[in-house]
Amino acid sequence: MALLPWHKIETVLLDMDGTLLDLNFDTQFWLDLIPKKLAQRSSKSIEICKQDMKAAYAEVYGEIQWYCLDYWAEKLDMDIMAAKHELAHLIRMRDDCIPFLDALKQSKREVVLVTNAHPNSLSLKVEKTQLDAHIDTLISTHEFGVTKESQTLWEKLQARLGFDPQHTLFVDDSQRILDAAKEYGIAYTLGITNPDSQQAENTIVGHPTTNNYHQIIQSIIDDNFSPHDSPHDSPHDSPHDLHHKDHHVEKREL
Ligand SMILES: [Mg+2]
Repeated sequence: MALLPWHKIETVLLDMDGTLLDLNFDTQFWLDLIPKKLAQRSSKSIEICKQDMKAAYAEVYGEIQWYCLDYWAEKLDMDIMAAKHELAHLIRMRDDCIPFLDALKQSKREVVLVTNAHPNSLSLKVEKTQLDAHIDTLISTHEFGVTKESQTLWEKLQARLGFDPQHTLFVDDSQRILDAAKEYGIAYTLGITNPDSQQAENTIVGHPTTNNYHQIIQSIIDDNFSPHDSPHDSPHDSPHDLHHKDHHVEKREL
């Protein structure tokens, strides 16, 4: 059975950090570099600064401030963008990112990046990876003032993009965000269980998951968007259904 019914998916909404890019940069930046910098300018140990930052992150977890560089610049009295440039060599795509994006493009689906990252952080990552060359539209949720964890974001995003939730797939590495998308009514979700190349794999429940886009690339290409499959279509990919879909694809291409 295929992981996702690609023939029902017209629009693909993609998270950025951990989903397309290796989360290692963000992990190193927020959990290591920032506490080190705080320790350097104070009498506190790095360990204490790490604990302080974990508490500070927990205060605004899932809120727009968590992702807001201006918030952290003011709270920590630090040039956050300058600090990001120090680690910019760690900004990289996942190894399976380009083949995945190429397959989506080849299949002519609408591909939209929807990130909670601050616009300045998005710009830096685009500059380092040229991610924008592979994606139709890039959106930072800061434009709406709410994050993907909020139902309000999904309402605003749908109004802006006009996608049909019944024919939309959302891919993310956050359990909480995937749950929010599902709650809003996004019909298809995919969880990424290995967002950080240097950390152990995560568990995501209640959603199909993958740790390697190569597993789904062939389905993306072969299973064209074809929402009005016959009533014979079953949710399971039996050989009969595959044959039926092939026939349908041929008709669409005529
Ligand atoms: Mg992410």
